Amino acid sequence: MHRDGDGPTLGRAPRIEEVEMAVPKKRTSKQRKRKRRTHYKAEPVTVNTCSKCGDPKVPHRVCPTCGHYRDEPVIEVEVD
Ligand SMILES: [Zn+2]
Repeated sequence: MHRDGDGPTLGRAPRIEEVEMAVPKKRTSKQRKRKRRTHYKAEPVTVNTCSKCGDPKVPHRVCPTCGHYRDEPVIEVEVD
């Protein structure tokens, strides 16, 4: 007997429309969602001091005060 529709199909590979995607069994509650997100927090910005001028600078960036990177002059900085 020929049958089209739902149910397990035996003896042949399922067509692409028959393959169901993974779906969560239960809706995530507000409490569970909020508890999970307690671990998401903003990182404090790391600030180092420039080895050339001693001013605070962000690591792996050219110093905005003196324009040096690893003691090498990289950019021109206007002095006011
Ligand atoms: Zn500097």
